[in-house]
Amino acid sequence: MIRCSRPMRERLDGVAAKRLLSIFVLFTAMMAGGEAGAQNPFTSTAYDPVFIGEESEIEIGKNTDEQLRQKYKISTDRQLNQRINAIGQKLAARSERKNLKYSFTVIDDELVNAFAAPGGYIYITTGILKKLKNEHEIAGVLGHEIGHVVQKHSLKALQRQMLAQFGLSIMGAMFGDGGISGALLVKASEISASLLLLKNSRENELQADAEGVRIMHAAGYNPRAMIDIQRMLLKESGGKNPPAIISTHPPSQERIDAIEQAIRNMR
Ligand SMILES: [Zn+2]
Repeated sequence: MIRCSRPMRERLDGVAAKRLLSIFVLFTAMMAGGEAGAQNPFTSTAYDPVFIGEESEIEIGKNTDEQLRQKYKISTDRQLNQRINAIGQKLAARSERKNLKYSFTVIDDELVNAFAAPGGYIYITTGILKKLKNEHEIAGVLGHEIGHVVQKHSLKALQRQMLAQFGLSIMGAMFGDGGISGALLVKASEISASLLLLKNSRENELQADAEGVRIMHAAGYNPRAMIDIQRMLLKESGGKNPPAIISTHPPSQERIDAIEQAIRNMR
């Protein structure tokens, strides 16, 4: 074990105390907001600090990925996976969390969907790929998912869900700097995997779109493709069996207008 010098120990204590306070305030805010756990954990609140450190986030993402690989059929089409990964990496390199090691995986499923786990693990189905007309539209879907990772949306939802489920008793295990381990890591990953098919809030969607537009433009893709995807999804939302992506990332005219505005602001 490495012994900390006294100032170092004091600094660590300061960080831990700050994080402890954040957790407590977040928990109190959640309790004040009504029955904890009854709400969709993707609901944003004005006070939304992240106390799960990046090291833990990556560990949770890695474990969630292992669970998803058992749950879903991963496409064995190597060329397709390479193509999607190449587009994803090009986009991720221009994101505000480019330090993460991103992975882009094609799920072989007719389900029309795409989702992002914590830590940079992103999935897209063959079902939605069939609906996308060109590389710009693929970049639109992936850019939006990277936007969710940058804004830590699934991590925040996980954090909220864990506090609702375990209360303040998990604090001790969560605020350490040495990452998350053992049973808690497995539990966190299970919850994280189960949250991926829940509806994102309006605020989350607008944030992910704005980040996606910025990344697409920086990586040399046409961000207007994001509007085409929204129009396609809006049209499909009136159908008999709307694609799953409509319930997880609901399209709206408001989103189209905000994307238009974000593109105009870039010029
Ligand atoms: Zn979304």
